[in-house]
Amino acid sequence: MESQKKLPRTYSCEFFPPKTEQGRASLSVTIDELGRLKPAYFSCTYGAGGSTQDGTTDTVKEIMRQGFAAAPHITCIGSTPEKIKALLDGYIALGIQRIVALRGDLPPGQDQAGHFLYADQLVAFIRQQTGNHFHLEIAAYPEKHPQASSIQEDLRHFKKKADTGANAAITQYFFNPDAYFRFVDDCAQLGVTIPIVPGIMPITNYKQLARFSEGCGAEIPRWIAARLEGYGEDLEAIRAFGLDVTLRLCETLLERGAPGLHFYTLNRTEPTRTIWEQLGI
Ligand code: FAD
Repeated sequence: MESQKKLPRTYSCEFFPPKTEQGRASLSVTIDELGRLKPAYFSCTYGAGGSTQDGTTDTVKEIMRQGFAAAPHITCIGSTPEKIKALLDGYIALGIQRIVALRGDLPPGQDQAGHFLYADQLVAFIRQQTGNHFHLEIAAYPEKHPQASSIQEDLRHFKKKADTGANAAITQYFFNPDAYFRFVDDCAQLGVTIPIVPGIMPITNYKQLARFSEGCGAEIPRWIAARLEGYGEDLEAIRAFGLDVTLRLCETLLERGAPGLHFYTLNRTEPTRTIWEQLGI
């Protein structure tokens, strides 16, 4: 973990593009409320092959309209070099300086891998087309990407992606800090020195969390699952327990040298604001 301790810390928040007028209005309020915490940037997800792609640009414009730095995610699977180039040109024209570069997952039933197969190819393409204009963030998986056959293979792919020209990484969420610290140490041994910022998923809803975790391969430790199941429909109890668990995880990560935190806000102010304030960041 020593390799990460000297790095400047970056605190950021992630949104997804709202689909309704009400969702857009509510996100504008969230941007304003979380903006008061002075995050380094707000990022916005991008659907691979889905219909939410214009929503990413609209959300990024709203973030910037409110005076904050925005980082659109770009996924490449199923896309073309021409389409990605047009997106990059559009983002440069808007004044965007940071991008989260990903492979993405095609929606079920779609099978057009396209020109780009892996995120490292997208990173290479962005660097080739735009030089060092963008600060590039990539994804990292302390508990292994679900499609990788082993953690060692996944680490080799991660190193290649980092070496291709990434400035920093954001992790998939996790609840076991040891998985993160071991991952960071393994990366350092391979010579990967970019900041690897933990992605934090605040716990507010057990069913939703279980569904997300099933999809992305993040482990919900047995003791956390047992407690959450035990609370049943008692949402207040789930929220209070979730806040406590997430806060302690963040404290541990920062105490042991994590170079910042990236909050998966699900477009809500809480509990990210409370965690942020209690951490004193
Ligand atoms: P990659 O780095 O390409 O890795 C994908 C898999 O391929 C891994 O198993 C890796 O080991 C393997 N691999 C990599 N290179 C090679 C190679 N050369 N040969 C063989 N195998 C290889 N998804 C979205 O659709 N939209 C989003 O906005 C979005 N935002 C995200 C933000 C964060 C911070 C994270 C952690 C994930 C996000 N995702 C998003 C999910 C992500 O797109 C998926 O996890 C996807 O399956 C992998 O993307 P990646 O960029 O990590 O892919």
